[in-house]
Amino acid sequence: MTGLSDSFQRPINYLRISVTDRCNLRCTYCMPAAGVSLTSHRDILTYEEIYTIAKAAAELGIDKIRITGGEPLVRSGLPKLIQMLAQIDTMDEIALTTNGTLLSRYAAELKSAGLQRVNISLDTLRQDKFKFITCGDNNLGDVLKGIEVARSVGLNPVKLNTVVMAGINDDELLDFATKTINEEWHVRFIELMPLVDEETIASQFVSVSEVRQRLELLGELEPCLPSAGNGPAKYFRFPHARGTIGFITPVSEHFCFNCNRLRLTADGQLRLCLLSDDEVDLKQPLRSGISSAGLKELIEEAVARKPLRHHLAEGDTPKDRPFCQVGG
Ligand code: SAM
Ligand code: SF4
Repeated sequence: MTGLSDSFQRPINYLRISVTDRCNLRCTYCMPAAGVSLTSHRDILTYEEIYTIAKAAAELGIDKIRITGGEPLVRSGLPKLIQMLAQIDTMDEIALTTNGTLLSRYAAELKSAGLQRVNISLDTLRQDKFKFITCGDNNLGDVLKGIEVARSVGLNPVKLNTVVMAGINDDELLDFATKTINEEWHVRFIELMPLVDEETIASQFVSVSEVRQRLELLGELEPCLPSAGNGPAKYFRFPHARGTIGFITPVSEHFCFNCNRLRLTADGQLRLCLLSDDEVDLKQPLRSGISSAGLKELIEEAVARKPLRHHLAEGDTPKDRPFCQVGG
């Protein structure tokens, strides 16, 4: 195994796999208000097809996989896919990003199948706001229970992803931060990307530097190592805190120079950058019987085409596929 690297000499060892374009929530910043057109079931990769792609990618040097969606837990039989991926012996890490609503039901089964870690999206600690942000009669208690069960079955460290929105949840920054002091919460504050309803979202943007300033009312944040993983977040903790705080700055400071990833969409396209529409089709070649060597060539072609950076700050946003169907 030689390892993959792109034309800017960035090592590529991480694959994010979206297993479905469906979601049981409709978060305001992710899902367009008019909804999205869903891919028909026959165009969604089967678990066997996902495994074939992951295996070929692993033979090229991919050793970390994250399962995402839409909401990955709405696809039935997810533990079976985890079990298949866990059999790839060079795979170092298999993780999941979820909204947590269905997690308490599946956490134990996922853990025994070989899942190692989980990131859970949680933007508020208040039920009324949870309903508002997720646009429906959804229950925050389900997510909190998901967090608890994930921890108890050993999917640790559980990281929480919190998108900060002015006037929506920025009054809860200190509540989240306090949780990292008193409990073993690992909270990552994410800058809101203007991907849906750009005007409203622009007015809700809060930069990480402002978030950090507000958090320091509780004390000085000390840089620290991540509790796990090697993603784009920078980590800190309050003195003597049990948990950590991460900051992710897709808007104010892109982290593309460290990009190590590819994304596989539920309909079998390798996406070269979260924020660019360029994709390489794997589904059709796979369904036409491409060899493992041919599949690997397509993956290498995708890696070679990775762009240097995204251009969100210049107003350049992806148009072809809504964010909820790429999986973050
Ligand atoms: N449904 C799963 C979940 O919510 O965790 C996985 C898919 S979701 C698209 C992955 C991550 O993208 C979530 O943590 C979500 O908060 C984040 N996200 C979605 N839209 C975003 C936006 N406009 N700006 C910043 N983060 C966003
Ligand atoms: Fe919310 Fe995740 Fe669904 Fe997007 S994909 S609407 S972030 S739960």
